[in-house]
Amino acid sequence: MTDFVIPAPPTPSIPVAGGGAFPVRRVYCIGRNYAAHAVEMGHDPDREPPFFFQKNPDNLYASDTFPYPAHTSDVHHEVELLVALKSGGTNIPVDKALDHVWGYGVALDMTRRDLQGEAKKLGRPWEIGKAFELSGPVGPVHPVAKIGHPDAGRVELKVNGDVRQEGDMNQMIWKVPEMISYLSEYFELQAGDVILSGTPSGVGAVQRGDTMEASIDGLGTLLVKVV
Ligand code: MN
Repeated sequence: MTDFVIPAPPTPSIPVAGGGAFPVRRVYCIGRNYAAHAVEMGHDPDREPPFFFQKNPDNLYASDTFPYPAHTSDVHHEVELLVALKSGGTNIPVDKALDHVWGYGVALDMTRRDLQGEAKKLGRPWEIGKAFELSGPVGPVHPVAKIGHPDAGRVELKVNGDVRQEGDMNQMIWKVPEMISYLSEYFELQAGDVILSGTPSGVGAVQRGDTMEASIDGLGTLLVKVV
């Protein structure tokens, strides 16, 4: 047993539908994976190589509240399909990629857009806009054993009952197996790794008191109040 010199921090985890918890090792997030969102962010929707950034494992959490973060006045919602891996490796072929998926869920990639925008402008990394405390509210992970591999279906986010984001998983520029395969060329994927697969168009700001309702066909609805 390792002789830790301070108490070891807890293993970050997210709940599983039906009980238990999925331990989180790393969180990879893909950028601009729906053409309409790429366009709204001022980019060409053509199929360029995907790009990724990371959130911290402990940024993901299950709760019905999202505390409005500090140092921003422009916090945006991004509803995303969460992909949870049970195994990994390097150079995973596309046609074997889904063998590594344990389950799927609904996630919010909450973003301090003003800080992200400044970082983009200055050529700085995005962590300050993306990887802050409690920036990733998530719903429960649904096991592949129960739901299979969803590759189509509505992705939606409502704020106070009004639809703000809508899309379909079949509109992803890079599909889940392609994302896994691509990531595995650059990183060694392992059990516990999580991928947030990008957001459809319609991102926008939330205020304290707003209720976000994120849903994906077959994966339920995540209800989160901004506090
Ligand atoms: Mn995102």
